[in-house]
Amino acid sequence: MTRELTAIERQTLDAYAAKHGRNWKQSLQDAWYNASEPGILQALRNDPAFGPRGLINYVAKRDERIKVVCNECGKKFQVRVYADTCPKCGGADIDVR
Ligand SMILES: [Zn+2]
Repeated sequence: MTRELTAIERQTLDAYAAKHGRNWKQSLQDAWYNASEPGILQALRNDPAFGPRGLINYVAKRDERIKVVCNECGKKFQVRVYADTCPKCGGADIDVR
């Protein structure tokens, strides 16, 4: 069994998928083989509860836009990755709406 991923692990995988397109899993396997993606991605490779098998079963969310609102200036907008900042005021105090 593979474990549940954390939100940041999912975001990292989804961002990788968005960047590398259709064959992102093959790209990531190559990157793992070459150890060319350090950090979270490599840690997932080395995690016995995820690893290559977890990757096969993982379904990336593509181009998923999240509706958010900035709590600092009130602007409503959409982001792909929840960690984005407000495009109007640059604020980081953003909530899903
Ligand atoms: Zn704002």
